[in-house]
Amino acid sequence: MSTATDPAGHWRPTTVEVDIAAFLRNVDAVREMLPPGSRLIAVLKADGYGHGAVPLARACSKHHVAMIAVASMEEAMALHEAAVDIPILVLGPLGNDEIALAAEYEIVIGVTGPEMLEAVAGVAKRRRRPVRIHLKLDSGMGRMGLVESDLARAVEILAHAPFVQLDAIYSQYSTASDPGNPHTASQVTRFREMVDKLRGSGIEAPLEHMANSAATMRSLVDPGSFVRVGMALFGGESLDRGRSALEPVMRWTTRIARLKSLPTGSPVGFGATFVTGRESRIATLPVGYADGYPFRLSGNADVLVRGRRAPIVGRISMDLITVDVTGIDDVALEDDVVLVGRQGNQIITVEELAERAGTLSYEVLCSVGRRVPRTYVGG
Ligand SMILES: *Cc1c(COP(=O)(O)O)cnc(C)c1O
Repeated sequence: MSTATDPAGHWRPTTVEVDIAAFLRNVDAVREMLPPGSRLIAVLKADGYGHGAVPLARACSKHHVAMIAVASMEEAMALHEAAVDIPILVLGPLGNDEIALAAEYEIVIGVTGPEMLEAVAGVAKRRRRPVRIHLKLDSGMGRMGLVESDLARAVEILAHAPFVQLDAIYSQYSTASDPGNPHTASQVTRFREMVDKLRGSGIEAPLEHMANSAATMRSLVDPGSFVRVGMALFGGESLDRGRSALEPVMRWTTRIARLKSLPTGSPVGFGATFVTGRESRIATLPVGYADGYPFRLSGNADVLVRGRRAPIVGRISMDLITVDVTGIDDVALEDDVVLVGRQGNQIITVEELAERAGTLSYEVLCSVGRRVPRTYVGG
C-alpha cells in the first residue's frame, strides 16, 4: 500500500480502501436479481455507508442505476455539487427550507407525511413549476410515511396541486431480512390496499418501490417495481444467502506503529484490563474509537498481521489499539495490518466485527470516521 502523502494531506497510515470495481460488480449482481422492467435505486446515504458517496455515485452509470437515494439535503447537495448526472431522491424527512432547496435543484423529494406534502404543494405553487415527488406510505414500519387516516388529506392536497408531480408511491419493509416473518406479507397487503384507495380517489403514480436489499436479494420484487438497495451494494454478507455473488467493497488497514516485548504480568491499556500471561510481543496500532473502530471490540476482536489473526488486547483507546502478536514470525514495525478485509487467506468481515460488538454491520460501516482517508481503487 502506498504510504505517500496525497494531495488532500493524508499522512496517517490508517486508511480505508474502497474497491469501486467490486461495488460495480455488486451493482450488476443486484440488477441480475431484478425482474423485467425493474430498476435499481442505489441508496448512498450516510456518505455511501461510509465508503464515500460522491466517488461511488460518479462510478454509477445512468444505464445501470435509475436514481441515487440519500437521507438528507446535505447529502443530496454533495452529489449535486459533484455534478452527478443520475436523478437524486432525498428520502427525508425535510423541513420547509430544505423542500424549497430540493425544488430549486430538481432533487426528487420523498414525501413522508401529510404536513410535508402540504409544504411541497406550497413550494410548487409559489414556483409555478413541477416539483417531483415520491410519496411514502407506512405499510407497517410505524415510522415515516402516510397511514390510512392520512390518505384523504393527501388526496385533497394533491387534487389541488397541479405542479406536484407524483412519480412514485413507495413503502419500506421492516422484516424482509427474516424469511419466516409473516409481517412482510402483511405489509404488501397493506401497501396494495392503500395504493388502491389512492387510485380510487384519482391519485396514481407510474412507479412503485418497496424492496430494500434484503427484499431484493429474496426476490420480493414485482416486475416493473424499482428497488432501493444500499447494503447489498457494499457486499452485505448475510444478504448474500450463501450465493457469493456479493463482494465486500471496504478494506480498512493500518500499520504497526510501535512494537515491543513485555514481560509476563504487564498490564496493557487503560484500566489495566489485560495483563500479559506470558512474555508477549505487543503491537500498537494508530487507530481507535475516534476512527469509528468500536470500543465494544476491546479485548474482543482480531486483526490480521502477516496473514495471521492477532487478538486485540486491553481497551481500545481514542486513537490507539494494542494487539498481541506473540508468535507471529517476522512481525515488524510498520507491518501492514488489516482491520477489515482480506490478508493472505484470512478475512475479517464487517459482519464479524458487528456481531462481536453487538451491533449491525450497517453501523460499523457508517461509523468509520471522517479522519480516516478513503482511497479508491478499481475505478
Ligand atoms: C437505507 C434505506 C434503504 C436501503 O436499505 P438496505 O437495507 O441498505 O438496502 C431503503 N429504503 C429506505 C427508505 C432507506 O432509508
